[in-house]
Amino acid sequence: MSLYEAFPVSLTNSLTKQKEKFEPLVPGHVGMYVCGPTVYSDVHLGNVRTFMSFDVITRYFRYLGYKVRYVRNITDVGHLVGDVDEGEDKIAKKARLEALEPMEVVQKYTNGFHDVMRLFNIVAPSIEPTATGHLVEQIEFIRQLMDNGFAYEKAGSVYFNVRKYNETHHYGELSGRNVDEMLSNTRNLTGQDQKEDPLDFALWKKAEDGHLMHWPSPWSEGFPGWHLECSAMSTKYLGTTFDIHGGGMDLKFPHHEAEIAQNKGCNHEGGAQYWLHGNMLTVNGRKMAKSEGNGFTPEELLTGNHKLLERGYSAMTVRFFMLMSHYGSTLDFSNEALQAAEKGYKRLTAGLMLLDKLPPAGTGTTDLKKSEALKALADQALTNMSDDFNTSKTLASLFEIVGKINTFYQNPSEIAQIDTDSWDYVTQHFSGIIKDVLGLTVETEATGNNQLLDGTLNVLIELRKHAKFSQNYELSDKIRDDLKAVGVQLKDEKGGGMSYNID
Ligand code: AMP
Ligand code: ZN
Repeated sequence: MSLYEAFPVSLTNSLTKQKEKFEPLVPGHVGMYVCGPTVYSDVHLGNVRTFMSFDVITRYFRYLGYKVRYVRNITDVGHLVGDVDEGEDKIAKKARLEALEPMEVVQKYTNGFHDVMRLFNIVAPSIEPTATGHLVEQIEFIRQLMDNGFAYEKAGSVYFNVRKYNETHHYGELSGRNVDEMLSNTRNLTGQDQKEDPLDFALWKKAEDGHLMHWPSPWSEGFPGWHLECSAMSTKYLGTTFDIHGGGMDLKFPHHEAEIAQNKGCNHEGGAQYWLHGNMLTVNGRKMAKSEGNGFTPEELLTGNHKLLERGYSAMTVRFFMLMSHYGSTLDFSNEALQAAEKGYKRLTAGLMLLDKLPPAGTGTTDLKKSEALKALADQALTNMSDDFNTSKTLASLFEIVGKINTFYQNPSEIAQIDTDSWDYVTQHFSGIIKDVLGLTVETEATGNNQLLDGTLNVLIELRKHAKFSQNYELSDKIRDDLKAVGVQLKDEKGGGMSYNID
């Protein structure tokens, strides 16, 4: 029996608002699409939370034996300031302010995004398509929507006709918004702009004079609407029906609602069977957002250089902090929570490191009851993960195993009573869940717990990663060698992390 049959996954489907058993379209395979970042600024920790949630989900499916095709896009055009249909493109605005080519902005922040993903040990997607790389598919999508009667052209722009769509479908099925009411309230407003109805959304926009990013199309020299890229790219790489679509809760409406409408209007299928939404990282109850000024960049987090931070925290402490809550609940940032996470992370990884120091199992008379009870703890950890990817409950099971490991270390006669098969099973899943599913790597502690030194070394480790990534091996080797000369050994960890030891 495969692991995914032994521990069947259930997940909360935003579309049905129910927890459902996960039944993939093709047995043993998972197709998942997650909305990626708009690359016009540095990502903050809130963005990281959403990508980390889907990282853990991808990792867990793979751990269970599924073959996963994970598509996470890069939005490099069409996302306008204020998430609306009029005004400046976020990327073009940044290009204007920084006197860069729009594609320089895109490259700069895509690189930065990848660095952050690596820092937090978030695995790369199987495919990372860009909106500008899929204009042909988006234009074709619009053409089909027009043929099917769900889109209309006005002065070179094309809009999705929500009212028409809602006659035969249900616009609002995902977000639960009462669109009938919204439509009747907005009827009198028609004619204020090019749209027939304010609820309609842009599929293609004609570029105004001076607009920096534009491409030819049958309707005008212009650019695609923000919602369209995800429909076009998910259809291209995963098909008209696929397993999972994910993103942050704030994207449910209008972005994901519009995606479903576009998919149904074009392909007669809604796209994903299961819609998963990660909840927000908040600061004092308010969503972390660039516009709120309450978002830390990873650098600020490592160094503690931000007014809300009492000190710096390591990347793995932050990862652990995120894992302490369920992805569907809001998570409030606080220094206390991060300090608790640091303790938890250290206790968990200390248990992991202690495994190598334990005497062998099965050297005494086997106690079947104890052996079974121990195995049940590993099973419980997997059951918790399969229960809507409940990382916080999974950590609780892992800590029970840590308790046993500590007992075995202090009382070797106890581990002697555990049969070797049970012990192998438990240790395999214990370390497998920590490293492969939760994505935690072992960071070794600086001697003396010197936080300033800790922060400084993390900055140097980051610099070295940047240097390696941009193939500046001269610099990356120099950082390593100079640190070695003063007694700090850098070590590359499996999975892309890096740790250090002080002689
Ligand atoms: P954006 O680049 O603004 O499109 O956002 C990228 C992703 O980060 C989206 O899936 C958002 O839902 C998510 N996101 C933005 N702010 C937060 C937050 N405070 N907490 C969790 N996820 C967020
Ligand atoms: Zn999207």
